[in-house]
Amino acid sequence: MQDYTILVNKKHLLSSDYVPENLVITDNNENNFHNYKDPNLKPMISADILPYFEAMQKAAEALGLRKIIVDSGYRTYAYQKVVYDKYVAEVGEEEARKKVALPGSSEHQTGLAFDIAYMDNGVYIENTNDIDPEIKWLKENAHNFGFILRYPEGKEEITGYKYERWHYRFVGVEMATILYSEGITLDEYYERVEQENHFRGR
Ligand SMILES: [Zn+2]
Repeated sequence: MQDYTILVNKKHLLSSDYVPENLVITDNNENNFHNYKDPNLKPMISADILPYFEAMQKAAEALGLRKIIVDSGYRTYAYQKVVYDKYVAEVGEEEARKKVALPGSSEHQTGLAFDIAYMDNGVYIENTNDIDPEIKWLKENAHNFGFILRYPEGKEEITGYKYERWHYRFVGVEMATILYSEGITLDEYYERVEQENHFRGR
């Protein structure tokens, strides 16, 4: 079983050969992120988290919100490397590091993270906005389904990423609820564990 609480960030990298075991394609919308950037990559997430995602999707729809879809899920190490190298060539290494995950440091490689888009009466909508009721609802309710807003506003210094309203990560309901109720990121949670172990002399 995959460790759903795995910490992946700029300091904790995945190896280049890390591939989650059971990926599933979430939908076949022809406009999603991967299909227009690379037709070989469908929006995939770990099969383990699909029921949680679908439950969240249905709960939102039941409230009259648009259908929340996985726009970009699993990405390979190789894919991230292409994206990263392209940015470096365009804006230089320093700027690239702020905007794009270093190969191995992207949560998208775990199959537990994804960027969202909407389907509105069959129309694919890529752009999300902070005033969208879906974005507001996700922020306050995603933890009930095991998901966290991974790069919140005001935590840029800690996560190393600018606020990303579209990027959600599965950590399981228990962990998501802890992070949500304490208002901390996954990075801060692990920092705290490290400090506690340090004080205990471990
Ligand atoms: Zn993302």
